[in-house]
Amino acid sequence: MARIFQSRNSIKKVPQRHRETKHEQYLLEHKGVTKCPECGNVHFKKRWYASVNDLKKHLKEGEISIAETKLCRACDMAKNHLFEGELLLDEVPTRHRRELLQLIERFGKAATKTDPQDRIISTKETDTGYRVCTTENQLADKIAKKIKDAFPDIEIAFSRSPKPDDVTRIHITFHTT
Ligand SMILES: [Zn+2]
Repeated sequence: MARIFQSRNSIKKVPQRHRETKHEQYLLEHKGVTKCPECGNVHFKKRWYASVNDLKKHLKEGEISIAETKLCRACDMAKNHLFEGELLLDEVPTRHRRELLQLIERFGKAATKTDPQDRIISTKETDTGYRVCTTENQLADKIAKKIKDAFPDIEIAFSRSPKPDDVTRIHITFHTT
């Protein structure tokens, strides 16, 4: 009987069972754990955790069995150069560049700490400034607001591509010299 429960593809819908031992129940509960081979994030019951250790802490379990290894959404987006949020920062005065990049990096890290799938995918220098891509459009929105707090003398223009793309593009132009 236990073999059936351990076989990965044997159960699509969980049938009613009455004679399970505690151990079998444990295996079943952990069938849904998917681990990303790239970043180590693990997915369990519709939520992402930063690592197996984080999930262990959350479940208060000593052992987690990984049912599946698969690229997570964030790593898949990075690999395929996809993004949901895009910040285009133009005419950034040289003297503000360092502070600006630090602010973006710090805010990105804090967001990732709260939700491991909330990430800055890339920050690149362009001819006129910087281009920052994020996994979530809300993250791009929040970064734009942070930049406005730190540098009030900027102009922000939002645009959103129609669904299914659902990409938010935010143009930020610095007017300070
Ligand atoms: Zn990943």
